[in-house]
Amino acid sequence: MRIGLDLDNTLADYRLPLERMCAAYGVSLPQSDPKVALREELRARGEEGEWTKLQGELYGPLMSEAKPFPGAEDTLLHWLSSGCEIFVVSHRTRHPIAGKKHDLHAHARSWIMESGLAVTGVFLEESKACKIARIDSLHCRVFVDDLPDILEHPDFPEVTRKILFDPGSSHRVAGGAESAATWMQIKQLVRV
Ligand SMILES: [Mg+2]
Repeated sequence: MRIGLDLDNTLADYRLPLERMCAAYGVSLPQSDPKVALREELRARGEEGEWTKLQGELYGPLMSEAKPFPGAEDTLLHWLSSGCEIFVVSHRTRHPIAGKKHDLHAHARSWIMESGLAVTGVFLEESKACKIARIDSLHCRVFVDDLPDILEHPDFPEVTRKILFDPGSSHRVAGGAESAATWMQIKQLVRV
Protein backbone atom coordinates (compact mmCIF):
# COMPACT_ATOMS: atom_id res chain seq x y z
CA MET A 1 0.00 0.00 0.00
CA ARG A 2 1.25 3.45 -0.93
CA ILE A 3 0.68 6.35 1.41
CA GLY A 4 1.23 9.97 0.33
CA LEU A 5 1.93 12.79 2.76
CA ASP A 6 2.18 16.53 2.50
CA LEU A 7 5.23 18.05 4.22
CA ASP A 8 4.66 21.58 5.56
CA ASN A 9 2.20 21.77 8.45
CA THR A 10 1.34 18.09 7.99
CA LEU A 11 4.63 16.38 8.92
CA ALA A 12 6.60 19.50 9.86
CA ASP A 13 5.25 21.54 12.75
CA TYR A 14 6.49 25.15 12.54
CA ARG A 15 5.09 26.26 15.91
CA LEU A 16 8.51 26.92 17.50
CA PRO A 17 10.00 29.16 14.78
CA LEU A 18 6.62 30.88 14.33
CA GLU A 19 6.36 31.65 18.03
CA ARG A 20 9.84 33.14 17.90
CA MET A 21 8.84 35.26 14.88
CA CYS A 22 5.69 36.40 16.70
CA ALA A 23 7.86 37.54 19.63
CA ALA A 24 10.28 39.33 17.29
CA TYR A 25 7.40 41.26 15.67
CA GLY A 26 5.67 42.00 18.96
CA VAL A 27 2.65 39.84 18.13
CA SER A 28 1.11 38.36 21.28
CA LEU A 29 1.22 34.59 21.29
CA PRO A 30 -2.13 33.19 20.29
CA GLN A 31 -3.72 30.04 21.67
CA SER A 32 -4.42 28.93 18.14
CA ASP A 33 -2.33 29.08 14.97
CA PRO A 34 0.67 31.46 15.33
CA LYS A 35 1.04 31.55 11.53
CA VAL A 36 -2.43 33.00 11.07
CA ALA A 37 -1.88 35.47 13.94
CA LEU A 38 1.41 36.70 12.50
CA ARG A 39 0.09 36.93 8.92
CA GLU A 40 -3.04 38.81 9.99
CA GLU A 41 -1.06 41.21 12.19
CA LEU A 42 1.45 42.02 9.43
CA ARG A 43 -1.42 42.47 6.95
CA ALA A 44 -3.16 44.80 9.38
CA ARG A 45 0.05 46.83 9.62
CA GLY A 46 0.22 46.99 5.82
CA GLU A 47 3.30 44.77 5.78
CA GLU A 48 2.08 41.97 3.53
CA GLY A 49 5.47 42.06 1.72
CA GLU A 50 7.27 41.41 4.99
CA TRP A 51 5.09 38.32 5.52
CA THR A 52 5.99 37.03 2.05
CA LYS A 53 9.70 37.44 2.87
CA LEU A 54 9.30 35.77 6.25
CA GLN A 55 7.81 32.71 4.59
CA GLY A 56 11.02 32.32 2.58
CA GLU A 57 12.94 32.28 5.87
CA LEU A 58 10.48 29.94 7.57
CA TYR A 59 10.49 27.30 4.81
CA GLY A 60 14.22 27.93 4.30
CA PRO A 61 16.82 28.26 7.07
CA LEU A 62 14.29 28.38 9.92
CA MET A 63 12.87 25.02 8.90
CA SER A 64 15.63 23.42 10.98
CA GLU A 65 13.70 24.64 14.06
CA ALA A 66 10.51 22.84 12.98
CA LYS A 67 9.70 19.49 14.60
CA PRO A 68 7.74 16.50 13.35
CA PHE A 69 4.21 16.61 14.79
CA PRO A 70 3.83 14.34 17.84
CA GLY A 71 3.03 10.80 16.75
CA ALA A 72 4.20 11.24 13.13
CA GLU A 73 7.51 9.43 13.60
CA ASP A 74 5.91 6.36 15.25
CA THR A 75 3.14 6.21 12.68
CA LEU A 76 5.56 6.27 9.74
CA LEU A 77 7.70 3.55 11.32
CA HIS A 78 4.61 1.44 11.90
CA TRP A 79 3.47 1.83 8.27
CA LEU A 80 6.91 1.14 6.88
CA SER A 81 7.43 -1.97 9.01
CA SER A 82 4.02 -3.20 7.84
CA GLY A 83 5.27 -3.09 4.24
CA CYS A 84 3.79 0.24 3.13
CA GLU A 85 5.60 2.69 0.89
CA ILE A 86 5.53 6.28 2.10
CA PHE A 87 5.96 9.22 -0.25
CA VAL A 88 6.22 12.87 0.70
CA VAL A 89 4.63 15.02 -2.02
CA SER A 90 4.98 18.72 -1.39
CA HIS A 91 4.21 21.90 -3.32
CA ARG A 92 7.34 24.01 -2.86
CA THR A 93 8.99 26.43 -5.21
CA ARG A 94 12.77 26.09 -5.51
CA HIS A 95 13.30 29.67 -4.32
CA PRO A 96 11.15 32.05 -2.25
CA ILE A 97 8.90 34.52 -4.09
CA ALA A 98 10.59 37.38 -2.19
CA GLY A 99 13.62 37.94 0.01
CA LYS A 100 16.87 35.96 0.01
CA LYS A 101 17.30 33.30 -2.66
CA HIS A 102 17.33 30.26 -0.34
CA ASP A 103 17.18 26.78 -1.88
CA LEU A 104 13.87 25.69 -0.37
CA HIS A 105 14.12 22.19 -1.85
CA ALA A 106 17.51 21.61 -0.22
CA HIS A 107 16.15 22.81 3.14
CA ALA A 108 13.16 20.46 2.88
CA ARG A 109 15.34 17.47 2.03
CA SER A 110 17.79 18.14 4.87
CA TRP A 111 14.94 18.57 7.33
CA ILE A 112 13.46 15.20 6.36
CA MET A 113 16.88 13.52 6.64
CA GLU A 114 17.64 15.10 10.01
CA SER A 115 14.17 14.53 11.45
CA GLY A 116 14.71 10.77 11.12
CA LEU A 117 11.26 10.33 9.54
CA ALA A 118 11.06 7.03 7.69
CA VAL A 119 9.99 7.69 4.11
CA THR A 120 10.40 5.83 0.83
CA GLY A 121 10.69 8.89 -1.41
CA VAL A 122 10.32 12.66 -1.56
CA PHE A 123 8.80 14.69 -4.41
CA LEU A 124 8.96 18.49 -4.25
CA GLU A 125 6.71 19.97 -6.93
CA GLU A 126 6.76 23.53 -8.25
CA SER A 127 2.99 23.91 -8.57
CA LYS A 128 -0.23 22.65 -7.06
CA ALA A 129 -1.15 21.00 -10.40
CA CYS A 130 2.19 19.13 -10.46
CA LYS A 131 1.64 17.99 -6.88
CA ILE A 132 -1.77 16.56 -7.72
CA ALA A 133 -0.41 14.91 -10.90
CA ARG A 134 2.30 13.29 -8.75
CA ILE A 135 -0.21 11.94 -6.21
CA ASP A 136 -2.08 10.48 -9.19
CA SER A 137 0.95 8.93 -10.93
CA LEU A 138 2.17 7.38 -7.65
CA HIS A 139 -1.27 5.72 -7.24
CA CYS A 140 -1.37 6.71 -3.58
CA ARG A 141 -4.07 4.75 -1.75
CA VAL A 142 -4.39 7.56 0.76
CA PHE A 143 -3.12 11.15 0.95
CA VAL A 144 -2.85 13.33 4.06
CA ASP A 145 -2.74 17.12 3.70
CA ASP A 146 -3.48 20.15 5.88
CA LEU A 147 -4.91 22.12 2.95
CA PRO A 148 -8.52 21.49 1.88
CA ASP A 149 -7.59 23.13 -1.46
CA ILE A 150 -5.52 20.12 -2.44
CA LEU A 151 -7.99 17.46 -1.33
CA GLU A 152 -10.96 19.28 -2.89
CA HIS A 153 -9.16 20.01 -6.18
CA PRO A 154 -11.20 18.81 -9.18
CA ASP A 155 -8.19 16.87 -10.54
CA PHE A 156 -7.45 15.08 -7.27
CA PRO A 157 -7.50 11.34 -8.09
CA GLU A 158 -10.84 9.76 -7.28
CA VAL A 159 -9.29 6.50 -6.13
CA THR A 160 -7.15 8.17 -3.46
CA ARG A 161 -8.62 8.37 0.02
CA LYS A 162 -8.39 11.90 1.44
CA ILE A 163 -7.48 12.76 4.99
CA LEU A 164 -7.40 16.37 6.10
CA PHE A 165 -4.90 16.99 8.89
CA ASP A 166 -6.57 19.74 10.87
CA PRO A 167 -4.90 20.18 14.27
CA GLY A 168 -6.94 23.29 15.07
CA SER A 169 -10.20 21.65 13.87
CA SER A 170 -10.70 24.86 11.92
CA HIS A 171 -11.89 23.60 8.54
CA ARG A 172 -15.14 22.15 7.41
CA VAL A 173 -14.53 18.82 5.74
CA ALA A 174 -15.71 18.64 2.16
CA GLY A 175 -15.11 16.68 -1.01
CA GLY A 176 -15.37 13.29 0.69
CA ALA A 177 -12.37 13.91 2.96
CA GLU A 178 -12.04 12.50 6.44
CA SER A 179 -10.54 14.69 9.13
CA ALA A 180 -7.92 14.07 11.82
CA ALA A 181 -6.73 16.51 14.48
CA THR A 182 -3.71 14.44 15.57
CA TRP A 183 -1.28 11.93 14.11
CA MET A 184 -2.68 9.34 16.53
CA GLN A 185 -6.03 9.77 14.77
CA ILE A 186 -4.36 9.44 11.36
CA LYS A 187 -2.81 6.15 12.51
CA GLN A 188 -6.24 4.92 13.60
CA LEU A 189 -7.82 5.92 10.28
CA VAL A 190 -5.12 4.32 8.12
CA ARG A 191 -5.01 0.71 9.26
CA VAL A 192 -2.42 -1.37 7.46
MG1 LIG B 1 0.90 21.72 3.95
